[in-house]
Amino acid sequence: MITVLAGGVGGSKFIRGLANQVPPSSIVAVVNIGDDEEFYGLHVSPDLDTVTYVLAGLDNDVTGWGVKDETYNALSMVKSLGDNGWFTLGDKDLGTHLYRTKRLKEGAPLSKVTREISNAHGLEVDILPFTDSTVRTMIFGKVRSDIKHAPDVDAKKLFSFQEYFVKYHHQVEISSIYYEGADLATLNPEVTNAMLACKKILLAPSNPLLSIGPMLAVPKLKDLLTRRRRDTIAVSPIVDGAAVKGPLQDILRDLYGDTSVVSVAKFYQPYVGTFIVDSKDSSFVKAIEALDMNCVVCDTLMTDKEAETKLAGVVVGL
Ligand code: GDP
Repeated sequence: MITVLAGGVGGSKFIRGLANQVPPSSIVAVVNIGDDEEFYGLHVSPDLDTVTYVLAGLDNDVTGWGVKDETYNALSMVKSLGDNGWFTLGDKDLGTHLYRTKRLKEGAPLSKVTREISNAHGLEVDILPFTDSTVRTMIFGKVRSDIKHAPDVDAKKLFSFQEYFVKYHHQVEISSIYYEGADLATLNPEVTNAMLACKKILLAPSNPLLSIGPMLAVPKLKDLLTRRRRDTIAVSPIVDGAAVKGPLQDILRDLYGDTSVVSVAKFYQPYVGTFIVDSKDSSFVKAIEALDMNCVVCDTLMTDKEAETKLAGVVVGL
C-alpha cells in the first residue's frame, strides 16, 4: 500500500501517474480539505473533487478545475438575481455539491460521502479527506496594491481560502497562514491506518503551505508523519526556481524571503527523508542534503500523462 498526501491539481496528476505504476487499489490518497467552503448553502470540496474528476477522466483541462463539457446555467441565473457569483460553479459540478451536502446533512461523515462519490465513478484509488473534522485555511494579509478594487484593501484582514484564491486571484501579501480547527481535528481510522501500514508515504507536488500545510497542522498527523520520516518522499513543487503554477512563489517570498526549492525542503525537513529535486534545480542538492535529507534528481514537470507516469515510476522505484 502507498499513501499519498495531496492537494488538487498537482496532486491529482501525480496520483494519476502513480495509478499507472502500481495497482490503483493499493493507493490511498489523503487529500486536503483546508480549501473547503460553503457556497449557496452547499459544501464545496475543491481538492477532493479535482482528484476524483481527474481519476475519473471527467476533469476540465481547459479551466484546470471543474468538470469537462460543463455549462453554467445555474450560476447565470444566480447572477441574474443580483448575486456577485464570484465563485464559479458549473451545472454538473453542482450535482456533486448537492449530493455531498445532502449526505452530510443526513449525518454521514465527509470520508464516507467521498468514498460514495468515488465508488459511483468506479474509482479504485481510495480517496479520503485527511480529517472528518472541520479545518479551514485562513490567510492573514493585505490585498496587493495593483488590484485595488475593494474598499478595504489597505487594511490587513483575514481571508477565507477561496476569498484569497478566487475572489482576489491570490494577489494578497501574506503575513501569516492559519489552519482554523486543525489543533482539535481528529484523524479517521482509515487515515491513521494508511499512514501506519503503508510501505511509503508520498507528498505529491502540491502547494506545501496551502495543500499539505493544513494536514501538518493536525498534531496526530504531524506526529505520524514525523515517525515515518525515513519512508516519506516528497516531490518538489518548485521547478527551475519557480512555482509551476499558482501562488507558491509569492507565498515563499512573503513568508520566508526565499523562493528556491531549499525553502520547501526546510519546510518539509522534519517529515521527509527523501526529496525529489527537479533536474533544473540540481545546484541546490548540497544545501538540501545538509538538512539530513536524501536527494534524488529527475525531471518533475508533469506536462502530459507520459511525464506523470515517468515521475511516479522514479518515486515508486526508490
Ligand atoms: P495542489 O496544491 O495540488 O492543489 O495543486 P496546484 O496545481 O496548486 O499545484 C501546487 C504546486 O504544485 C504548485 O506550487 C506548482 O508549482 C506545483 N506543480 C504543479 N504542477 C507541477 C508539475 O508538473 N511538476 C512539479 N514538480 N510541480 C508542479
